[in-house]
Amino acid sequence: MANEKERILIVDDTPANIDVLGAILTDEYDISVAVSGPMAIDIAGSEPLPDLILLDIMMPRMDGYEVARRLKAGQKTSQIPIIFVTAKIEDADEAFGFEIGAVDYIRKPVNASVTRARVKSQLELKKYRDRLTQLVEEKTSEVRTSRERLESEQQKLQRAQEDLLDKKAMAHKHQVYFRELFMNSPYGIVLVGRDNRIISSNNSYSRLLGYSIGEILNSEFPGFPIDGQAEGAHKGLVKKAFDGETTCVETLCLHKKGYRIPISALAYPVRINNRVQGVFVFYENISQRKLFEEKLKHQAYHDTLTGIPNRLLFSERLDYALDRQKQDPEFRFAVLLLDLDRFKSINDTLGHQSGDELLQMVSARIKDCLRANDTLARLGGDEFAVLLPDIRDHHQITVIAERITRAAESAFIIQNQEVYVSASIGIVEQTRVYENANHLLRDADLAMYHAKDSGKAQFKFFTPRMHEDLMASVTLEKELRKALEKEELTLFFQPIIQVAKGRLEGFEALVRWNHPEQGLVPPDRFIPLAEETGLILPMGEWIIDTALCKLAAWKKVFPGPLSVSINISIKQFLQENFEDRLAAAIETYGLKPSDIKLEFTESLLMEHTEKAVQRLEALKQLGVVMAIDDFGTGYSSLSYLQQFPIDQIKIDRSFIGSMERREDSFEIVKSILLLSKSLGLAAVAEGVETRQQMDTLRQLSCESAQGYYFAKPMPADKTMDYLKGAAADSALS
Ligand code: C2E
Ligand code: CA
Ligand code: CA
Repeated sequence: MANEKERILIVDDTPANIDVLGAILTDEYDISVAVSGPMAIDIAGSEPLPDLILLDIMMPRMDGYEVARRLKAGQKTSQIPIIFVTAKIEDADEAFGFEIGAVDYIRKPVNASVTRARVKSQLELKKYRDRLTQLVEEKTSEVRTSRERLESEQQKLQRAQEDLLDKKAMAHKHQVYFRELFMNSPYGIVLVGRDNRIISSNNSYSRLLGYSIGEILNSEFPGFPIDGQAEGAHKGLVKKAFDGETTCVETLCLHKKGYRIPISALAYPVRINNRVQGVFVFYENISQRKLFEEKLKHQAYHDTLTGIPNRLLFSERLDYALDRQKQDPEFRFAVLLLDLDRFKSINDTLGHQSGDELLQMVSARIKDCLRANDTLARLGGDEFAVLLPDIRDHHQITVIAERITRAAESAFIIQNQEVYVSASIGIVEQTRVYENANHLLRDADLAMYHAKDSGKAQFKFFTPRMHEDLMASVTLEKELRKALEKEELTLFFQPIIQVAKGRLEGFEALVRWNHPEQGLVPPDRFIPLAEETGLILPMGEWIIDTALCKLAAWKKVFPGPLSVSINISIKQFLQENFEDRLAAAIETYGLKPSDIKLEFTESLLMEHTEKAVQRLEALKQLGVVMAIDDFGTGYSSLSYLQQFPIDQIKIDRSFIGSMERREDSFEIVKSILLLSKSLGLAAVAEGVETRQQMDTLRQLSCESAQGYYFAKPMPADKTMDYLKGAAADSALS
């Protein structure tokens, strides 16, 4: 830059003038020229800008003054120093020129050295001025920068101050909140220091236990007197917390007034700088929950109706007794399982409310027969169980069982009515053999069923024999299920004879089971089981079908009337559409309904009176003959039976068998026959074994007879021979 020449613009409308000035200055400076005002303005504004302008005043169109004024007004050109070059100058003009912004004058004709000096000094001046301006600008910018820095520092400071204030406010707020949390927490809170003394407690604590902070401050935790287990619980809790563990216990606190409060206590360590400095203990009053839990527990363990223990509690006590027995050879206990007889029918006839009342009364009565630490429980329905701990001997159990049996039997007054029930009781005395309560109860149950089977209203002690019998009948049941499919059942037939003429009237079908190992099994051994299991239904259908099939076959070889008698069991009789099925079978074999006789026992008719009457009417309608079997063994009278549409009675063989030996049996048979005649019922005597019996029956005008005297029940294939013989006999007579 130092080498670069300074630029001078020479402005003059006279080229000769320009030449003169140019010649003077051209060695030292970089010269540019303009020959008019507008041209001068144009060049002066273009880069690189001239450092000095030599400006002629007297120019046509735009004079030097005007040019100077415009240059001073131009933003770029205002700082360019201007020297006026003029021929003649007066003071006023000179002043005018300075006013406009000229820095100097050069007079024409120009003197070379003056011009050089003036130009030089002006350029020097300009250089200083430029330097100064630059300096000022630099300083100004420095000042500005440092001021700005200062301002930003100030702002930062202010912000930090504000922050600090905010934090202070927040900290204060937190403190208030935490204090509030502590003081008014619904939990009673105690703060315990390292020396195990209470530092602080809150309002809930005071409410819970009655002590204000003043009263317990500095006293040793827990701050109230407590002994036994609770003391250990409290101390252990805090100790663990000091060891860094958070723990919770349910225990008791002692209120200032002296009563105990069940509480849940939670303790956790207060850590400051990684060291446990204290312990917070939170107390919650759990009295309500405890009460509720007690209530639930009671409900879970007791029968709602009677208030006595239920099955669950009984099982627990029984388990306990079994356990104790293992440990203590002296300890003996017994279990009674009790079921009310006839409860169901009372419930059905008097209604459930009366049934409930009865159960309550029964349980109260049984309780009266027991000792204080015996347990009476209701297992469900009308089933009760008794646990008798600390039993000395067999006799003691018998006495209690007898007492209960008698108590159950005396009248209960329910809704102003006398109601009678009885109890069947099964007892397990040899409890030592049992590992588990279920097995024991199962055997008591079995003994109870034996009591029921033996006529109810009594008690039976369990014996292993009962179990064996049960197992045998379980096996029998399994085999019986298969017997039908394997065609092991077979029908035997026993002839029925008309007493007056000795003529064959028909056969009674009697079922047998041809067991692969046991041989022929009599019906008494499997019919009750078939009844119980429902197997009697398919079995009964098979019996009817087979009997009708045989009758149809006999009819082909035997002239005249011939019937078949079929024993019908109660389940079979009450089966849906029994009469329709029977009618269909009669139709299938092309038989007359009057050739079919159905035999029912009395008890069957007694037990389901209404339904039985309907069904009998339907059968009557169908035209089959109906007989009462085993007559005389039940409790009904003939006149009672009159309400059923019965055609025949079969006099039980026990009367026939003892007729000759016992006067009363003879009298019974005689009056049965008289009565039946008056009611228009035919009579069949069962079990006739002797000629003498037959003669007596003939004298008494009994219509028909059946028994070993004529023939034993025979297999089906023997019946054809028998029929042929009978046909020949009737042909003879
Ligand atoms: P029930 O109907 O009274 O049958 C007569 C029973 O007396 C038959 O015994 C028969 O063999 C027997 N008996 C016949 N004559 C004499 C005699 O002179 N002296 C003696 N002591 N007994 C004689 P069974 O066949 O053992 O039948 C027993 C019971 O089984 C029958 O008594 C009947 O109630 C039932 N029963 C038999 N077969 C069937 C059947 O197919 N269905 C149903 N539901 N029950 C049947
Ligand atoms: Ca019979
Ligand atoms: Ca009979």
